[in-house]
Amino acid sequence: MRIGIDLGGTKIEAVALDPAGSVLQRRRVATPLGDYRATIETIASLVDSIEGELGTQGSIGVGTPGSLSKRTGVLRNSNSTVLNGKSIGEDLIRRLGRPVRIANDADCFALSEARDGAAAGASPVFGVILGTGVGGGLVVGGALVEGRNAIAGEWGHNPLPWPRLDDLPGPPCYCGKRGCIETFLCGPGLSRAFEQRTGRFCDAAEIAALAGRDDAAALATLSEYEERLARGLAHVVNIVDPEVIVLGGGLSNVERLYTHVPRFMRRYVFSDEVDTKIVPAKHGDSSGVRGAAWLWPEDASSGGTR
Ligand SMILES: [Zn+2]
Repeated sequence: MRIGIDLGGTKIEAVALDPAGSVLQRRRVATPLGDYRATIETIASLVDSIEGELGTQGSIGVGTPGSLSKRTGVLRNSNSTVLNGKSIGEDLIRRLGRPVRIANDADCFALSEARDGAAAGASPVFGVILGTGVGGGLVVGGALVEGRNAIAGEWGHNPLPWPRLDDLPGPPCYCGKRGCIETFLCGPGLSRAFEQRTGRFCDAAEIAALAGRDDAAALATLSEYEERLARGLAHVVNIVDPEVIVLGGGLSNVERLYTHVPRFMRRYVFSDEVDTKIVPAKHGDSSGVRGAAWLWPEDASSGGTR
C-alpha cells in the first residue's frame, strides 16, 4: 500500500492506493494555518488513522509547495511561508518512524499523470499546474527528474519569455522578482488582467463563463492569457521537447486552452512542425496526492519501505 499526502495551503489531503493504483482510503482536513507543529501532527494523524482503519502500513510520500534544499534539507520556495526553513522531512520521519519521501507538489502532479494519467506511457512529460500558483514538473522514462539542485521543472519563476512592452516590468512576485511566469498565468493573474481591462473583479471560472457568452473583454483577456501561456510553454518545448504537456489546476478546466494554445505556440517553437500534445489532467485535483503516493515506485507491500 502506498500513502500519498498533499500538503496544501488550505487543506491536507491523504490517499491510500493499492498496488494497482486504486483508492483504498481518502481523507481531507483543513491545514492548521500558520502552525508548523500542528501541520506535522495533522499529517501524522492522517497516516495513523488510515493505517488503523486498513490494518496495514504503507509507504509515505508527501507533496508540498516548494522543495527541500539539497544543501540544508529544509524546505524553501514555498508560498505557504510557515513551512519555509523547516526540516519537514526529518520531522515527519521522526514522528512516523520510517522513511518519508517529499517532493514539490507540481512534481507529484507530473508523476501522477505520467504514471497512469493523461500522459501514461509518454516521455518526456511536462506537467504544469495553473492554479493559485504556477508550477511544473518533468518526468522522463516514467521517473521524476529531480535535478542537481532539486528544482527541475520550476518554470513558474522564470520570466515570461518573448515579452511585449506591456508585459514589462511585470507584476511583483512573492519570490522577490517581477514578471515571473506565475504572476501572469496563475488564477489571480488572469483576474488582475481582466480587472485592468474592465475595472471589474471576476475569478477565472467567471471569466471563462463570460467568454462562453461572447463577452468581448473576457474573450480578449483569455486570448491574451493563451498567448502568454503559449510563449511560456514554447520555451519549455525548445529545451526538453516533451511528448505531452499535461495541464492541471483550476485554469486547466478552461476548454478553449487546448485548441488555442497549440496554435499560438507555433510562432515560438523553433521547429517547422509542432506536434506536442497539450491535454488536461486525467486525475484532476487528485493528481497531486496520487503522485505523492507514487514517489515510492516499487511496491512497498512486497519488500519493505526502502
Ligand atoms: Zn517569482
